[in-house]
Amino acid sequence: MAATIIDGRALAAAVREEVAAQVAELGGVGLATVLVGDDPASHVYIDLKQKAARAAGMQARDLKLPASTSEEELLATIAELNADDAVDGLLVQLPLPAHIDEGRAIEAVAPEKDVDGIHPVNAGSLALGRPRLVPGTPLGIMRMLEAYEIPLEGAHAVVVGRSNIVGKPMAHLLLQRNATVTLCHSRTRDLARHTREADVLVAAVGRRHLIAAEMVKPGATVIDVGMNRTEEGLFGDVDPRAAERAAYITPVPGGVGPMTIAMVLQNTVTAARARRAAQVASGTS
Ligand code: NDP
Repeated sequence: MAATIIDGRALAAAVREEVAAQVAELGGVGLATVLVGDDPASHVYIDLKQKAARAAGMQARDLKLPASTSEEELLATIAELNADDAVDGLLVQLPLPAHIDEGRAIEAVAPEKDVDGIHPVNAGSLALGRPRLVPGTPLGIMRMLEAYEIPLEGAHAVVVGRSNIVGKPMAHLLLQRNATVTLCHSRTRDLARHTREADVLVAAVGRRHLIAAEMVKPGATVIDVGMNRTEEGLFGDVDPRAAERAAYITPVPGGVGPMTIAMVLQNTVTAARARRAAQVASGTS
């Protein structure tokens, strides 16, 4: 039996509608994005986020800085946006040019505006089981698993890839839902042995079709985060033939990608609500 295809586009559209309603209720929400340099994929992602933010009724500021921008200049821009009350959410698109220390830029963003959820305060809160702002990709994946009622409690979840923006936060979120989590990476021995045991398999590597159909457990739920752009098109990390074995699978494109953008918008609303509540509590509003 062929797998049910998890429709990320439809679910993302629903999230974006919810976000638009919340933006209207709050009377406006501001998102600022900062892009440094000319990376073509980064331009595509920023333009998609900007378009989605505007469609949801947000005030979206789109800062595109030249590749020659110094670290000091970038940090000064971030500081200005941190201090700007009209900015609820702030994201700095990665990767940054090699002459800029990514860690310093990430740490410069005010944690309460960090809608990518990668500031150490947010990453640490998630690791402690008290999530605040969580990266959009794993947050979107949890939303997909909920929407399709995929059981997680006691399930064996295998996450392939341990980046700070996808693999690690994914593992924490699954753990918090009481899955038994295995986190694989480039030094994992016999990857297939692990993936074949996964009730829920999340592939976040960046290698076209690294996960062959035979590496998937029959009846598994397969989430393909991979976005591998080639001249022939966009490919995931999972061979689509895995749909013949899986019970549920996300397509590429049309799966995790649209959900990531929708959840960044949701995070912006979450950040706006939290900041306003804090201002009311401290009497500064
Ligand atoms: P990174 O390059 O930061 O991390 C890749 C991870 O994969 C690393 O942990 C690496 O291990 C691991 N890895 C590499 N080769 C292997 C291998 N042969 N076997 C097992 N593990 C391996 O990537 P990201 O997490 O940022 O992104 C992963 C993919 O997801 C990319 O294709 C990216 O484009 C896509 N992506 C898609 C998004 C979406 O919205 N759909 C959002 C974000 C990312 P090690 O740590 O040992 O080096």
